[in-house]
Amino acid sequence: MGKSYREELVGVFGDPIDENPTVVVAQTAFEKLGIPYRYVTVNVKAEDLEAAMRGLVAMNFKGIHLTIPHKVAVLPYLDSLSEEAAIMGAVNTVVVKDGELRGENTDGKGFMKSLENAGIKCGGKKVTMLGAGGAARAIAVELCRAGIDELVIVNRSKKRGRDLLGTIQKNFGLKASYRKWDCMMAVDEDTDILVNTTNIGLYPDVDARPDIVFESITDRMTVCDVIPNHPHTQLLKEAEKRGARTLDGLGMLINQCVESIYYWTGETADAGSMKAALAREYGIDVQC
Ligand code: NDP
Repeated sequence: MGKSYREELVGVFGDPIDENPTVVVAQTAFEKLGIPYRYVTVNVKAEDLEAAMRGLVAMNFKGIHLTIPHKVAVLPYLDSLSEEAAIMGAVNTVVVKDGELRGENTDGKGFMKSLENAGIKCGGKKVTMLGAGGAARAIAVELCRAGIDELVIVNRSKKRGRDLLGTIQKNFGLKASYRKWDCMMAVDEDTDILVNTTNIGLYPDVDARPDIVFESITDRMTVCDVIPNHPHTQLLKEAEKRGARTLDGLGMLINQCVESIYYWTGETADAGSMKAALAREYGIDVQC
């Protein structure tokens, strides 16, 4: 038998996509696992998504990540959906098997893994969530599946806040509420975990600060941010000043990729080397 030059293909579809760093993380994982996988970063316009999804089967891809603007738009082109992705109404990971496309969502799972790695238990806890977009939906559903006691959704637009509240109330039996975010918001004293799922602080607006009363953050809280770039956000800096535990968005990015790689390959990737690769890429320290 001659040497095989064939590679198994996975990757990400999005628009814009140029600055998405997942290839660095995924390719490091494949090299460490010693498996011939190639992660490709592909610009796919909204109007080309259907053709691109058909192309996955034609080109024998193992799967694909989806990012803006495809996470919801992809639903009609899938053959099946995981229970969580169906509740969230969004897919970030597609698995191709036997010519069929299955939708999964690993964003929330990646977040939960970061909590677990930091030794933070969420059973019975009260969570306050800033934002109600795609990342919020994924994280909220996984937090509810993990048995939190109460969820407070704080969002600027009423529609998205109410939609997420409706999803949670329909699928889970916990205490949940929505608050419109139109002025400085004080975090409830009995909040255990505060999560920012908005874009506030995302590069290039790295000095942006959410409209919350920072004095209401206490040292009994864990404060999490989903912003991957730059991960050390103003919110996390303010929380550290007040003695709260903090968790940044890079750990979530790495861990969602570990979950996706498991779906595509059946192998468990080494988060540590992925973390080191991303740290080198960004020239920073990374929590995982
Ligand atoms: P969406 O567009 O779906 O949602 C954005 C949310 O942020 C909405 O709730 C929106 O409120 C809110 N928001 C945006 N700007 C402001 C503002 N200035 N003030 C108050 N609220 C604001 O985006 P996603 O959920 O897909 O992404 C959100 C963030 O999550 C991004 O920064 C992304 O990089 C990050 N992310 C990180 C991941 C990781 O692995 N670390 C994975 C996925 C996402 P409104 O409804 O009022 O517009």
